[in-house]
Amino acid sequence: MTDYDLIIVGGGPIGLACAIEAQKKNLNYLIIEKGAIVNSIFNYPLYMTFFSTAERLEIGDIPFNCLAPKPGRQEALEYYRNIHRYFNFSINLFEKVTKIEKKNQNHFEIVTDKNNYSSKNVVIATGFYDIPITMNVKGEELPKVRHYYKEAHEYAFRNVLVVGANNSSVDAALECWRKGANVTMVIRKNEINNRVKYWVKPDIENRIAEGSIKAYFESNITEIRDNEVEIETPEGKITIENDFVLALTGYKPDLNFLETIGIQLSSDELKIPVYNPETMETNIEGLFLAGVVCGGMQTHKWFIENSRIHAKMIVDYITSE
Ligand code: FAD
Repeated sequence: MTDYDLIIVGGGPIGLACAIEAQKKNLNYLIIEKGAIVNSIFNYPLYMTFFSTAERLEIGDIPFNCLAPKPGRQEALEYYRNIHRYFNFSINLFEKVTKIEKKNQNHFEIVTDKNNYSSKNVVIATGFYDIPITMNVKGEELPKVRHYYKEAHEYAFRNVLVVGANNSSVDAALECWRKGANVTMVIRKNEINNRVKYWVKPDIENRIAEGSIKAYFESNITEIRDNEVEIETPEGKITIENDFVLALTGYKPDLNFLETIGIQLSSDELKIPVYNPETMETNIEGLFLAGVVCGGMQTHKWFIENSRIHAKMIVDYITSE
């Protein structure tokens, strides 16, 4: 069995950035990705626009060309695929890591649904987009309730309830409304989230103000039924007709996976993994975290722009020893 210097779990932008650094330092590495390359971005809404400009999504100093001020999903897929064509990564796609165990001082065993591997070091860059945060209300299991949004066509001429007031919810609400859906929003707080893209926020606020999109602020869904939804508002409980619920209430990293490996998490509700911010090494020597997974439940703390640097920090540290 090959004994790798580094196994990278996750072929998202940050896993790829780690591979670029490993390649630069001639490490014998392997990326193991459970889906397609940059699988999270592949699963984003078809017509989404990044809040970052293209150069802030670049990795390996390879220019990301984009005509519009901000790139969209399709351009990002082109870019990261080209990154692989350029670097020709050592990568196994559609292979899921199920277990990581430290066998001795210098050796991890990595178990996947296809094979077993051995490595001196491991980076976990598994992101946060695989597990939706659920609302835990009656009826959430109905097929009309969606935690991922792809495109608006299906929702045209239907009564659509969008839950949340972050970028995903606002983009979906506007797109669906523009394709002819009757859109209602249910928002826990009393305003649209301040993180909503600066050029989109006035759009949604104006659609709400003019009554094109109905929004219930400081409100929560209490029950979802086949043809209607019950909402608790400051004025009391109301029931509205409903065909689809887009519960875009966020996603969370696979914290159980981290815990089963032995990575310590903070005891509060943020469940932030323990790692050294200078090296990204966890409480387990030789096991590193990179990218959005580092934030635990603080999934807005790390994103592509500001976590690309994790790759160099990790590989510099591994190769300095
Ligand atoms: P991911 O891209 O999520 O990659 C993790 C990978 O690990 C996935 O491919 C997954 O399939 C794989 N994986 C998970 N578990 C396993 C396993 N057990 N075995 C093998 N593989 C596994 N960030 C920005 O900087 N700018 C933006 O404009 C921006 N816009 C965004 C828009 C949307 C709609 C969303 C949802 C996010 C946006 N982000 C943006 C956030 C950004 O996309 C994420 O922070 C980014 O994907 C993090 O990269 P990552 O490599 O850490 O994780």
